[in-house]
Amino acid sequence: MRKKIVAGNWKMNNDLAETQELLSNLKMQLVKKPEAEVMVAPPFTNLHEAFKSLKDTPVIVAAQNMHQNENGAFTGEVSAKMLKSIGVETVILGHSERRAHFHETNEILAEKVNAALNNEVKVIFCFGEELKDRQSEKHFDVVAKQLKESLYHIADASWENIILAYEPVWAIGTGETASPEQAQEMHAFIRKNISEAFNENIAQEVSILYGGSVKPANASEIFAKEDVDGGLIGGASLKAVDFLEIVNAF
Ligand code: PEP
Repeated sequence: MRKKIVAGNWKMNNDLAETQELLSNLKMQLVKKPEAEVMVAPPFTNLHEAFKSLKDTPVIVAAQNMHQNENGAFTGEVSAKMLKSIGVETVILGHSERRAHFHETNEILAEKVNAALNNEVKVIFCFGEELKDRQSEKHFDVVAKQLKESLYHIADASWENIILAYEPVWAIGTGETASPEQAQEMHAFIRKNISEAFNENIAQEVSILYGGSVKPANASEIFAKEDVDGGLIGGASLKAVDFLEIVNAF
């Protein structure tokens, strides 16, 4: 049975002291073991602090990005091998902000996926259409292309290390959420697309998260949809109380 997962993407927020406060609030309010697998992705500078603080909890610490090369002259970058060496076992790849601001293409993301898998780092692979794609009814085509060009080269066995996060760009950080029906429609499409490219078993086993302005007020409705296995949460993951309400919204 596929896993339910809620992951918090902290983006470029919180210095060390603010991170310590958020971590301590999370731990304090995490009173029962959640039904979902819970992850948080702090910026690189706070990964160590998050590990230290969350070591006796079920919360998994993930990274927000990595470079596709193992080492070399890539000033400012961090590799999968480096992440793995400090205990990071999951990385977010393909976030729309990285695609938009750092020019990450489907081809670059395919290389990053390979680098992560080669280092036994699980991937939360983000993808989703822009507003113009939805308005011109190209959203299914755009999503199919993102998946095909960045992911469909992997071996069947690698799918157990992939988590998908469908994040319509028009819903990220905008307060505008896809309706539960829109999310379900796209998640069902994604599963069908994977089934055709690989097989039905892989399609049924992969967790597909929804991301885009998920809040405590709308999480239950979205998570109740058959093909939605949880969420990738940006803004609302920065407040422990809101994040945990989302974690417990199944
Ligand atoms: C995200 O950054 O992945 C995200 C979904 O952000 P938000 O929840 O703030 O829309």
